[in-house]
Amino acid sequence: MSQFENLVQSQKEMFRAGKTMTYTYRIHQLQKLQEMLNRYEPRIYESLHKDLNKSTYEVLTTEFGFLQQEINYTIKYLREWMQPKKVKTPASHKGAKSLIYKQPYGVTLIISPWNYPLHLAIAPLIGAIAAGNTAIIKPSELTPYTSDLIEEMIKETFEEKYITVVQGGPEISQELLDQSLDYIFFTGSVPVGKIVMEKASKQLIPITLELGGKSPCIVDRDAKVEYAARRIVWGKFVNAGQTCVAPDYLLVHESIKEKLLNQIKTEIEKMYGSNPLQSGEYTKIVNDTHFDRLSQYLNEGHISVGGETDRTNRLINPTLIEQLDWDSKIMQDEIFGPLLPVMTFNELEEVYDHVEQSRNPLALYYFSENEKNQEWIVRNISFGGGCINDTMMHLGNNQLPFGGIGTSGIGKYHGKYSFETFTHEKSVLKQTTAFDLAFRYPNSKMGRKIL
Ligand code: NAD
Repeated sequence: MSQFENLVQSQKEMFRAGKTMTYTYRIHQLQKLQEMLNRYEPRIYESLHKDLNKSTYEVLTTEFGFLQQEINYTIKYLREWMQPKKVKTPASHKGAKSLIYKQPYGVTLIISPWNYPLHLAIAPLIGAIAAGNTAIIKPSELTPYTSDLIEEMIKETFEEKYITVVQGGPEISQELLDQSLDYIFFTGSVPVGKIVMEKASKQLIPITLELGGKSPCIVDRDAKVEYAARRIVWGKFVNAGQTCVAPDYLLVHESIKEKLLNQIKTEIEKMYGSNPLQSGEYTKIVNDTHFDRLSQYLNEGHISVGGETDRTNRLINPTLIEQLDWDSKIMQDEIFGPLLPVMTFNELEEVYDHVEQSRNPLALYYFSENEKNQEWIVRNISFGGGCINDTMMHLGNNQLPFGGIGTSGIGKYHGKYSFETFTHEKSVLKQTTAFDLAFRYPNSKMGRKIL
């Protein structure tokens, strides 16, 4: 018997008792979650600093602030989202009414990664609570301070039979995946996403997979170089490039390459100083394994900016690498660090072939002033989501569904989409008993007659 059977059973009982079904209960829990974050705000900054050396600015913009915005938005619209939706009924169903009820799944499992350890554990939880589910959170074992804090905060705020945290690595994660769950929400790498999907398939448990991939950043000949450089530097080097939607590599029009790279260099200095390793405000690489993996890439191509590393503090300067082949290792793997390979193109059609090589990127960024070309990129290339003339900002708009396609993921969330993800839309036809229509029954000689 698994150590988690009783836990899942107690959450199932809690769910069946129906407490989570009401609007009042859900709102109250969202408020409790918000108060919890506010109460622990200083400790949140502290633990993220210990795990990843994240600066106050980064925690505020990418973790704490994001969650506050998401909770406020959910509280504002929850009543509207929960209402059964009345839809049209065809004439063949005369007398009936058609409704879509918003049904929570039950016991949900949220497995999260280390790169935004608070954000990626709590953002799905907001959806799970709003939709009326219970939740088990399995945060990453690679950010122990933040995962311990998440456990402490949740334990203090919620009953175990409603929301709880289970800590551990792959084995614990897999044991949880074997439980009789009602929904699995996974954020992490493609290989582990496949394991999650395989496990879920054994019991046909519905899933969301928020995965990764190589997200291209394309800069065309007519792009406004100064804006492009600033926005690329921000998107690539925030969290030291350890962001699922960070521009993975640069694909720049040959004619503006030198101008863009010079400007990128200027922007790196403006944002991180002349030696980011010394700045104290620059995020570190999560562990030695990832540091060594990233360091290996520095042996490929020609480093034109950065390249300096500090293994003791696990820091790598923002780095640009040129003269790479498409089949080099750095161009095959998801980089997930502050290294930006620079590739070039001459015709837009070439971009299509290159991007298709790495299949279904989670994000794509295209910088150009030409609206026809912008439309061409958006309509012809498959990617989860992205920006024209910016990087990563699509993620911060909760009106936009966030998720991948194909190898970068299944499903979407943020804002109303989080509520929908954790909700089953149950179709119900309410039939009239005032009369019956003869034509639907076999051997009826009565045509359209009302019985
Ligand atoms: P990971 O897949 O190694 O781990 C994610 C979670 O899965 C962790 O909680 C971990 O304990 C668990 N896990 C690890 N191995 C497992 C196994 N064999 N069986 C079951 N569970 C296992 O990912 P990571 O290294 O923590 O995060 C980086 C990856 O996540 C990158 O690929 C990145 O692109 C992706 N990511 C995606 C998003 C998104 O929103 N799409 C966001 C952040 C990160």
